[in-house]
Amino acid sequence: MRVDILTLFPKIFELVSRESMLRIAQEKRLVDFHVHDLRSFGEGLRRNVDDRPYGGGPGMVMMAEPFYAAVTGLLGDEPYLLPGGTRTILMSARGTRLDHQVVSSLAREERLFLLCGRYEGVDARVADFVTDEISIGDYVLSGGEIGAMVVIDAVTRLQAGVLGAAESLAEESFASGLLEYPHYTRPARWREAGVPPVLLSGDHRRIDEWRAEQSSLSTAARRPDLVVESGHKSGDRSS
Ligand code: SAH
Repeated sequence: MRVDILTLFPKIFELVSRESMLRIAQEKRLVDFHVHDLRSFGEGLRRNVDDRPYGGGPGMVMMAEPFYAAVTGLLGDEPYLLPGGTRTILMSARGTRLDHQVVSSLAREERLFLLCGRYEGVDARVADFVTDEISIGDYVLSGGEIGAMVVIDAVTRLQAGVLGAAESLAEESFASGLLEYPHYTRPARWREAGVPPVLLSGDHRRIDEWRAEQSSLSTAARRPDLVVESGHKSGDRSS
């Protein structure tokens, strides 16, 4: 998978993509990141990318043209707005809320193009030529970069071959519509706190049953909304 990122702050991505899972995914050539400086698509000698809001109000708004120039310039003649074209995604507090379903759908794409806003936000006409607007939650960030990193991390770890054991993905929180069961590691007794005896029993059938039960209990207690949702949506969870 190839991921292009358009930002005024390219350095934000360097550190994160050079460590751990994202570094390994690139070394294995499972993902390929290309960070583009929005400034180089700015207007005039000063490479302006923002201006004051029509109608007044505080702060600056990012102009549509630098985003458009970058997307069309980098994707060339590709008809990205047609089905099968590159998903061009504006990070936006008013976008579709990111969740496991959205992440899995993005993870199946061959290429993603993430656009990061700053300041008071982006001229509303940018939303008219992108394929998606995504929010990482109901709060306002100072820029789209950290949200884009969230998308990149979640999507990359779903790529086949990025994580060691493929089966670990299926059991993780949200993949099955449930939260994951609790994990324990050594020592068996840690500051008075023990480990559920079944996990030390070596009986894998009982361990599987216990884990399934813990998943259900934990989901019902912590996230009853997921239980209701999985009842409604069970039909579209096959992939
Ligand atoms: N005035 C806007 C927020 C602008 S914040 C509003 O009230 O909605 C500047 C940029 O940060 C946005 O253009 C967007 O790219 C990014 N951003 C802010 N909150 C975000 C969120 N919850 N998810 C994803 N991106 C977000």
